[in-house]
Amino acid sequence: MPPKSASAKTGAADSVPRGTGESLLALKRRAGKINRQLAKAYPYAHAELDFRNPFELVVATVLSAQTTDVRVNQTTPALFARYPDARALAEANVAELETMIQSTGFFRAKSRSLISLATRIVDEYDGVVPGRLDDLVTLAGVGRKTANVVLGNAFGIPGITVDTHFIRLARRFGWTESKDPVQIESDVGALVAKAEWTMLSHRVVFHGRRVCHARKPACGACPVATLCPSYGEGETDPVKAKKLLKYELAPGNEELLARMLGDVSRAAEYRQEAQLLARQQSSGPTTGSAAGAGMGPAAPVSGRSTTRVADSL
Ligand code: SF4
Repeated sequence: MPPKSASAKTGAADSVPRGTGESLLALKRRAGKINRQLAKAYPYAHAELDFRNPFELVVATVLSAQTTDVRVNQTTPALFARYPDARALAEANVAELETMIQSTGFFRAKSRSLISLATRIVDEYDGVVPGRLDDLVTLAGVGRKTANVVLGNAFGIPGITVDTHFIRLARRFGWTESKDPVQIESDVGALVAKAEWTMLSHRVVFHGRRVCHARKPACGACPVATLCPSYGEGETDPVKAKKLLKYELAPGNEELLARMLGDVSRAAEYRQEAQLLARQQSSGPTTGSAAGAGMGPAAPVSGRSTTRVADSL
């Protein structure tokens, strides 16, 4: 559900400042082109937390704060086997739960949040995760971003997930001038069709992790370079830029990329296999590793340290 922006409240959506000097119509057209181009580049973009139902996604997303999706995905199979639903989690032994989720960090606070949110789901929603943003954000540990992740990926309700990658790219694309996640959600929501919001979020985060890095964006190897007003902010030499690509796009990961493109429905599975292989091949500790989404075997073992599903998410 989109937030109400100041402009929406005043009925002056056209006046939201973007700084590119384009009309709202031109901006919408360019946003649509970028979205379509990203869809072509990342047909396998997906939520990167493993889950089978809304309960599992809420829990996984709460766990993903300050750690990687990879780490969460390693933790949740045993967790969900032990606590398969909100009722079981509400009655969890705190010490046992803390031990099970210890590797995700901040395990005491996360344990408290999980037991609290599970108890509330049982007491207030008869054990069923609510499918409304207004209800979700009242659960312990669930903010607007988490709620949109759950709505978009577990309920099929379009939502824009604004994480650190999305903020950076939305600003580079000239879709917003704001740094405020709620305002960014509103600004981008005004440019892109609602039905596209969830997948747009995945695509933008995938692009941010692989190509449009915070420090050294690979402009010379970017599929939306001709549509981006920030082209040139990073490396423009195609050969040098290609070396900056990460995960399945990184040089040497062509086989993984081919597999992911060849069967997009199994892309997550292929990515996880590659992650497992990378871990097995790694001789060093994996703490803090694996920037969430889709790592290929050659991916660096340092990674995202902020929340996301798909960081993304
Ligand atoms: S052209 Fe450069 S700044 Fe723009 S999206 Fe591509 S990598 Fe990012």
